[in-house]
Amino acid sequence: MTMISLTKINKIFSDKHQSFHCLKDIDLTIDKGEFTVIAGPSGSGKSTLLNIIGLLDKATSGTYLFDDLDVSTMTNNALADIRREKIGFVFQAYNLMPVLTALENTEMIMEFCGLDKKLRRQRAMETLTSVGLADLKDRFPAQLSGGQQQRVAVARAIAAQPLLVVADEPTANLDSHSAENLLNLMVKLNHDLGITFLFSSHDQRVIQRAQRVLQLQDGQIVSDERKDQQPKLVAL
Ligand code: ADP
Ligand code: MG
Repeated sequence: MTMISLTKINKIFSDKHQSFHCLKDIDLTIDKGEFTVIAGPSGSGKSTLLNIIGLLDKATSGTYLFDDLDVSTMTNNALADIRREKIGFVFQAYNLMPVLTALENTEMIMEFCGLDKKLRRQRAMETLTSVGLADLKDRFPAQLSGGQQQRVAVARAIAAQPLLVVADEPTANLDSHSAENLLNLMVKLNHDLGITFLFSSHDQRVIQRAQRVLQLQDGQIVSDERKDQQPKLVAL
């Protein structure tokens, strides 16, 4: 079953002085449950493509079907509703709220999803437990290591039970052990809950784990490799 279908997606950044053709006629289909990485050099358009797929930004032209809905013609409000309900985000710089504890950070997104407070708290606690952070639930981000903060970010991304998690260079600021640990967690969530994962990364650790590797170069997909494997767990 198809989760994401892009047809002739273009993105042109322009202002008064110049314009830059960032994504060029991208055609791409991603199935539900796939574990995919978009690789490619810096500046090739990975973040721009992820932002469009994650409904944080709009393409200049082309058609985008997300979970069978044509999102290319929707209003920003309608897009925001779909984003909150169906998509989780993990960023390179974690982007946790510094004044909220791990538990409160995990609960945060669910506030927008209309769940009542008790259910939110319960769901957040379960989610933190599933990422191995139950003991640290009352710590603030500054009291957690980089790897732990990124696990909170994953908990936050999955707490509302999204269909898709988009992760932009999620391991870029992590040491090897934390990176492998985080990847194991995402592989497990993919396997156990069927969440579709889409990463951008030029980290070989991420690329080796993926089921499918797309190479982006100058705004075009120059290769699309589906490996004959499930996403890999690595013994630590
Ligand atoms: P990557 O994530 O692969 O490093 P990006 O998607 O961030 O690449 O950027 C691709 C290209 O688009 C870069 O040349 C970048 O400078 C340009 N770009 C990204 N965002 C904007 C923007 N808002 N305005 C103008 N140019 C942009
Ligand atoms: Mg980027």
